[in-house]
Amino acid sequence: RDFSVDDLEDLGEIGRGAFGTVNSMRYIPTGIPLAVKRIRSTVDERTQKNMLAELSIVVNCDCEFIAKSYGALFKEGDCWICMELMDTSLDKLYRVVYHHLMTHIPEPVIASIAYCTVSALNYLKEHLKMMHRDVKPSNILADRSGRVKLCDFGIAGNLVDSIAKTRDAGCRPYMAPERIDHQRMQDGYDVRSDIWSLGISLYELCTGRFPYKQWSTMFEQLEQVVKSDPPRLTDERFSANAHNFVNFCLTKDVQRRPKYRALLQHSFLTSGPDRGASASFFDFVLTSCVPEGGAAGGINELVSALRI
Ligand code: ADP
Ligand code: MG
Repeated sequence: RDFSVDDLEDLGEIGRGAFGTVNSMRYIPTGIPLAVKRIRSTVDERTQKNMLAELSIVVNCDCEFIAKSYGALFKEGDCWICMELMDTSLDKLYRVVYHHLMTHIPEPVIASIAYCTVSALNYLKEHLKMMHRDVKPSNILADRSGRVKLCDFGIAGNLVDSIAKTRDAGCRPYMAPERIDHQRMQDGYDVRSDIWSLGISLYELCTGRFPYKQWSTMFEQLEQVVKSDPPRLTDERFSANAHNFVNFCLTKDVQRRPKYRALLQHSFLTSGPDRGASASFFDFVLTSCVPEGGAAGGINELVSALRI
């Protein structure tokens, strides 16, 4: 479908990443709300064509655990990627849960998030022959009805990758040991690198904090992630079954790390997503973000006001 900027009504910024901003917009012809990600990109016309061709694959992607992509357009050196609008992302949600509401995400909700994300990654691999390469809480979206969807792979991921390459590569905190370790880089692009990132993300969602102390250089990251033992989830608020699943994902040796099939058969996931539990929990969190007197704002304002 051909998108034109004139068909979009801007409803304001909802997020900001390292490479651009995300706004909530309305597609005027149908009234459908969209999330529009704008990435500064000065790619040539041929690359634009390739990207749009790739996008058409992603647009046909039909998985209930993946945020829908509607299309993209290039405007004055920016790439606008239009996708399904969700209520929030899990990085914002967990910050409010652990730092503001002073509680934790209930285990059935964690299990549901894990189930949806593993199913989405498995779909990408089986149907699109694609890896995600940037699994992290901010790329897992949620809404009040309990849906959980993965986003930011394919065109969005590739654009960010190509910008990152031209800049000083920068640290990707969720990157698996085999991808950081340059000596083994040639066999580093195993799908299981995404499973490591999922493990780090789940650890963070269970504890409210990132498992490593913050590093400031690639060298420090290498020291911590490649040279030391992997993080271990031992938090008493979660069952041994939950610990076992998260720690299974955090197997340091990529050859021994589980694949999607093994994860989907793990007893932590076999009961499937608990949409009801997720819906009531996400609704509780989002409702408690609405400021006194109602009105808009919510989780974005709370997260920035609390600097969390
Ligand atoms: P990052 O993922 O690194 O945080 P992004 O530019 O991808 O950076 O996204 C910025 C923020 O915008 C995210 O953290 C998320 O909260 C929000 N966001 C992105 N896509 C959507 C969407 N489809 N629906 C709702 N919020 C979104
Ligand atoms: Mg993102």
